[in-house]
Amino acid sequence: MNFFNFSINKILTREQSILDQARIRLLYYGFLLAIVGLGALFLSVYLQNLHVLTLTAGAILVAIAALFKYLTYKPHWRTISHLLLITGTLLNLAIVFVIVQDINIVTIQAIILIIIFSFYMLGQNWGMFFSLLNLLPILIFMVMQYDHNYFIDFKPEKADQSTTIIAVFANFILIIFIHSHLYAAFIKNIKQLRDTGEEQTTLNIKFETAIKKAEKSSQVQSEFLSTMSHEIRTPLNAVIGMSNLLLMNNPRPDQSENLEILKFSANNLLAIVNDVLDFNKIESGKVVFEKIKFNLAELLHNICGGQMIKAEEKGLLFKLDIDSALRRKIIFGDPTRLTQMIFNLVSNAIKFTSEGNIWVRATCLEDRHNTITVGFSVKDSGIGIRKENLETIFEPFTQESITTTRQYGGTGLGLAIVKRLLDLQGLQMHVSSKVNVGSEFSFNIEFPVSTEIVAPPKELVTETCQHQLQHTGAELELTESNLRILIAEDNPVNVMLMKKLLSKWHIVPTIAENGARAVEILQYGNFDIVLMDLQMPVMNGFDASMEIRKMTDPAKSRIPIIALTASALFDIRDQVTTAGMNDYVAKPFKPDELMDKIQNLITTVG
Ligand code: ADP
Repeated sequence: MNFFNFSINKILTREQSILDQARIRLLYYGFLLAIVGLGALFLSVYLQNLHVLTLTAGAILVAIAALFKYLTYKPHWRTISHLLLITGTLLNLAIVFVIVQDINIVTIQAIILIIIFSFYMLGQNWGMFFSLLNLLPILIFMVMQYDHNYFIDFKPEKADQSTTIIAVFANFILIIFIHSHLYAAFIKNIKQLRDTGEEQTTLNIKFETAIKKAEKSSQVQSEFLSTMSHEIRTPLNAVIGMSNLLLMNNPRPDQSENLEILKFSANNLLAIVNDVLDFNKIESGKVVFEKIKFNLAELLHNICGGQMIKAEEKGLLFKLDIDSALRRKIIFGDPTRLTQMIFNLVSNAIKFTSEGNIWVRATCLEDRHNTITVGFSVKDSGIGIRKENLETIFEPFTQESITTTRQYGGTGLGLAIVKRLLDLQGLQMHVSSKVNVGSEFSFNIEFPVSTEIVAPPKELVTETCQHQLQHTGAELELTESNLRILIAEDNPVNVMLMKKLLSKWHIVPTIAENGARAVEILQYGNFDIVLMDLQMPVMNGFDASMEIRKMTDPAKSRIPIIALTASALFDIRDQVTTAGMNDYVAKPFKPDELMDKIQNLITTVG
């Protein structure tokens, strides 16, 4: 690099802020001005034969030139300012205390220069420091001079008026220059800030509109999905219901096989619709986690009951291990969401395992009296997952490979739902898996514990769960045949389905085509139970139930009501209870499940 290249452009860069650039410029041009001024002073004192002053002016000139060179070499304006202020302070004090031994207008100017320069260049703290460093000794000097007790062994040099004029002139120019230069920079800075502020505001407005648009479109999308799924669920309900009915009619073996396939496919389609609907709901942030009381052991039994049958059908050994510490505890949490998570994991475990075992465990990891941490784990001896796919399988609509889709079906939403549900609660999923050996999915949840405890469960919680008791049609036929059931349902296909289904148990239900009609019929007739569809014209199921609960005759106002709902996903329970209904069955319901619930309510409520 050329030693004599003193250009300012090489030290100004785009990265420096407006103020820093102004500081560098100020030093640069300030040095040039100072060199001119000092040159003139040097000449003036030299011509007057003032040796010490000449020497001092010369030394300062050299120092300024050196700092100028330093600045044009590297723009370390902070260091240079410090060096300059130290030099200036020493010079100032030397002139007052030694060389001139007096205070004149130049001294005052020098102090003002130092004050302005230090504040502008180095900020408030250093500004205060250098200001006091210059002011205090001068004040002390003034007091001592006033008392006539300042004396040193050096004869002061007195410069003539011309030197003073040059110094005063040069100092004024410097003061004005520093001030005007930095003032301009401040104004420019403020303007730039205002401009960025305005830009920011326009950007913010743009962002807001974009966000609103996105929200709107996602809302439209989720409403669309919701409506579509609902529309799909209704005919599916009929398909599944009809296959159930046909299967109950002692079909020929070949028909029975076809019907099973029909039922299986319809159920599959329904699971997909449910998954899509639910994932959509989770994604749109509409999930609220409940905090209700439940017993974990009982819940796990209920979840695993059906799954166990599936596992056994495949010849798999199903083990359900529940920590004895958990069995009698009542905890607070969201059983529906927990069910959904475990159900998905267990379904996968069964789906992807052809031999060996499925092992579901709930371990009490920590019991802190009023909260417990439970470790859940679902382990299988199935096909396993390749290491590189361990993360992607949690993405929505992602399966391990095309072969998975072909061989096992599915949407690739199950794990995405589980992961999102855990994420929403700030929890993590752990997976370990080995191809052809098996997989284990596990997560921990902390639950608040109620002070209540459950009575020892009726069904023993055994290490390996056995089949749960299933009601058979014959069993119900004896007890339920004279039941008086009122069905509020507007869809004729569903009505036919229900009638046929109930006829298996020799029950002839009364039908109301909407909620208002149901309330009316109930007023004049006697019934044991009401099956209430939720979406109906004229009056929906919620309003009708509320009307029923308001009836004066307690036999009517307390009648058991079961909601029949097609959109029964996971938040319906609250709404159903709030409206005063006792229970709900999701359409398409399994005949046994419906009869179970009816029987249950008749014995407990009725
Ligand atoms: P789906 O089950 O509908 O395919 P999931 O999101 O539940 O969707 O699972 C995504 C993928 O993760 C599955 O397609 C499968 O490749 C893999 N997977 C999930 N659970 C298991 C398991 N227990 N064993 C082997 N692979 C699994």
